[in-house]
Amino acid sequence: MFGLGVSVAMISSTRPEIPRKPRAFGLVLMIDRTAYSVGPIACDPVVAERAFRLRKADGTLYDVRQTGFGPECDCPDFLFRRDGIDPVGCKHIQALLTYGLIVGEGVDAGTHRKSRPQPAD
Ligand SMILES: [Zn+2]
Repeated sequence: MFGLGVSVAMISSTRPEIPRKPRAFGLVLMIDRTAYSVGPIACDPVVAERAFRLRKADGTLYDVRQTGFGPECDCPDFLFRRDGIDPVGCKHIQALLTYGLIVGEGVDAGTHRKSRPQPAD
């Protein structure tokens, strides 16, 4: 046609369509000897970059989110003993970091959290 001698073969779609059935995916995370089912949860991008809900067999829920200030969890251990104190975070944060479900973005080297900016006086 245009003198290049190149022909383009069109691939016809004669392949049979593969039936797609709905799939159910699940992730179970072991922390010590406790199993948690883990699933992503929607989050406002202003609040967190990503978030996961961990559910124990007894129905207890913990939400872990990755924020610009580091990971946060709503478990009592994090809220009362670690938030702003322990840069390693709670066991839920440690587990999600270990498996790469959240990253320690905004985290100082060697720690899992960086300090929140302090309000100006
Ligand atoms: Zn926690």
